[in-house]
Amino acid sequence: MKKLKKIFIFLLWFLFFVTFTAEIVKLIFEQNPEIGHKQLGLANAFFWSSLFLIEMIMAGFVITFIVKYPSRRKRLVILSVCHFSVILLFPVVFNDWSWTCLLYPWPHSLQAFDPMTPKAALLLSSVIGFFIVPLITLKWGAKGFCGYICPHGAFFSETYGRVFSKRFRGVDWMKRYIPPIYFMFMTASLLSIIFFPYTITQLRTVQKMVYFITAEFLYFVVCIPLFGGRSYCTLFCPMGYYVKRIVKFKNRSGKSTLNPK
Ligand code: SF4
Repeated sequence: MKKLKKIFIFLLWFLFFVTFTAEIVKLIFEQNPEIGHKQLGLANAFFWSSLFLIEMIMAGFVITFIVKYPSRRKRLVILSVCHFSVILLFPVVFNDWSWTCLLYPWPHSLQAFDPMTPKAALLLSSVIGFFIVPLITLKWGAKGFCGYICPHGAFFSETYGRVFSKRFRGVDWMKRYIPPIYFMFMTASLLSIIFFPYTITQLRTVQKMVYFITAEFLYFVVCIPLFGGRSYCTLFCPMGYYVKRIVKFKNRSGKSTLNPK
């Protein structure tokens, strides 16, 4: 039984590895589609089919864990609704992948500002990123968005992340530097888009690459197996940093109201 479990975990990891390797190929050909139309088509087909398979396996984990761990039911159900709606339902219904930006707002991504993103998605994503997330965080703290809503770190740490038990802590120092630097990059990008809208194309290309390396390839292939399900949240995520800043602001203003000088 143990051996079967190990084989399953290896095959699952391998599926993530080939899927996100196909995405590297896709990203390279997307930079210059005229050198590889056919290859781009193949990479796209492979990537989307593998991603669909991953989503189905994750749905299987959700059902298994809901049955096995009653204490985690509420969180799993809410996370699954958030994840599957932005990853599968909205993109299929609107026939447009950019609707994922609803729960991947700034500073998680610049997708909402991409010229290809529909205006309605930009508007909703901005409302969520700039108003709803701060309000949820002020009310429930970091566990609001990062515990029950985020379709990325929160969802995958509760599903794929639960399969791996090893937690190597040797890279914890990174969390002091990378999230604030990443957040500063996203803030500078936002200001640049507001004041110089023509910069969006270049910024989006860089942000897509940074996101792919940190939130996808490194997170799924290296970090989750070695450092645990929350590794992207602690080591990289600019959204997590944003949420933590709001929590700090809330705690500070709470203290100053309690101790007026
Ligand atoms: S830290 Fe980032 S990835 Fe993790 S749960 Fe929060 S927003 Fe999601």
